Amino acid sequence: MPASKDHDARRAAQLGRQLRALPSIDRLLNSPELAGLVDEFGFEACKRAARDELAGLRTALRDGDPVVAARVESDDFPASVFAALQRRVRARFSASLRPAFNLSGVVVHTNLGRSILPPEALQAIAAAAANACNLEYDLATGQRGERDEHVEALLCELTGAEAATVVNNNAAAVLLMLNTLAAGREVLVSRGELVEIGGSFRMPEVMQAAHCILREVGTTNRTHRHDYASAIGENTALLLKVHTSNYAVRGFSKSVSGLDLGELARERGLPFCHDLGSGALVELERFGLPQTLTVAEALAEGAGLVSFSGDKLLGGPQAGIIAGSRELVERMRRNPLKRALRVDKITIAALVEVLKLYRDPQRLPERLPLLADLTRPAAEIRALGEALLEDVGEALGPGVEVSLVACQSQIGSGALPLEQLASSALRLAPAAAKGARDAALRRLARELRGLPRPVIGRIHDGCVLLDLRCLRDTQRFLAQLREAGRRCSGSGREAGIVEADSKAKAQQC
Ligand SMILES: *Cc1c(COP(=O)(O)O)cnc(C)c1O
Repeated sequence: MPASKDHDARRAAQLGRQLRALPSIDRLLNSPELAGLVDEFGFEACKRAARDELAGLRTALRDGDPVVAARVESDDFPASVFAALQRRVRARFSASLRPAFNLSGVVVHTNLGRSILPPEALQAIAAAAANACNLEYDLATGQRGERDEHVEALLCELTGAEAATVVNNNAAAVLLMLNTLAAGREVLVSRGELVEIGGSFRMPEVMQAAHCILREVGTTNRTHRHDYASAIGENTALLLKVHTSNYAVRGFSKSVSGLDLGELARERGLPFCHDLGSGALVELERFGLPQTLTVAEALAEGAGLVSFSGDKLLGGPQAGIIAGSRELVERMRRNPLKRALRVDKITIAALVEVLKLYRDPQRLPERLPLLADLTRPAAEIRALGEALLEDVGEALGPGVEVSLVACQSQIGSGALPLEQLASSALRLAPAAAKGARDAALRRLARELRGLPRPVIGRIHDGCVLLDLRCLRDTQRFLAQLREAGRRCSGSGREAGIVEADSKAKAQQC
């Protein structure tokens, strides 16, 4: 017999032996080692996991995977299958959406869920979710009510608007304004304000989705009042001003103020809408933060409608708020799109509680988590870092060098893109030989992301920076880090793995 045939026959015999060594699904599921798992997650789920696990093993054996072959032939088999099954079932049942530590240095981080809600809002959410409520029911008359009514008066009180409505997010708010006021007609926007917000919200595409015709005026760096004035024609329906949330045009630049646009719109009998993006309800300067146009100021400038997010500088739940003239708000309420974009009782419950806090602006930094984070004094963050430094170094072990450095946090989410807040960060430098530094760094970042409560930092200059501005639960943070440290200083078997880290480069708006 030729040598290759001989080899093939031996290989076939070996494969047959390995496949026969695999336990049957029944045997697996009836084994006492898995009784607890079946009890906890149910027979069907465990059976499915067992089928998948065994199929995976069979394929690997047929492909000649030496690691799996060695596993099957080891004394430890099938105990290793029990462990793999446990992991498989638990992974399938673990929630995908999990709380995380936002130590990225971007306070309002869209990819990390934006604002954290105050306890009052959490209680209101629980009560609304667990019970029937008068969402659209007028308790005085027993008649059908309007869900906006729960927030409208508060919004009017806080912004000076005549009327207000709430939809799913600010993108929806812009869509609703445009579609209601300008479907099939022209909307004038400055070329300097054709923003893209985080990839999917791009002004020209929103225009298209709203069935409006975008009419660009001016140039990228300079737009004048007469650019708008001369573009107004028969088919013009609306003047729109868009807050350039995530960039700034500097140098030889000019834009037309809301005041001037409001005046022009009045002269020509056109509505003027201002997409404010972040939507601060109070002057942030009073808290030592950078200046930004408030919703009340934008309305006072002459905007007929102002739209803004509920979860950016307002610090509330995801929502899009439109405040302004009663006539225009009523028109939007009659648009069938409003029904498609409306918010649920949970959002309304949370928003009402957050808005109520604004009635006492002085105490906002104590009561609204967003403002607590934004106004946290640099000295306090530094002191927190000093207090943590030794414990973190110890938790992460000798594989990671930990130091405390000054850094700059960003407000984030298209709010004041160029403004920075002085902060402090733990700088984690993985100890590794020269050629292996990149891999070690990625591994450390991955271990931090893989913790039960993922720790999201940012990579800077060959290190992981953990900005401490938004760190609250230091106990949990430390307890977890010990786990990451153990794994990083462990066998190092994975250290050579290079993974594309594009996902970790979180978008900032
Ligand atoms: C953020 C932003 C939006 C989108 O708001 P979402 O609440 O994220 O939907 C729209 N316009 C501007 C100017 C923004 O800054």
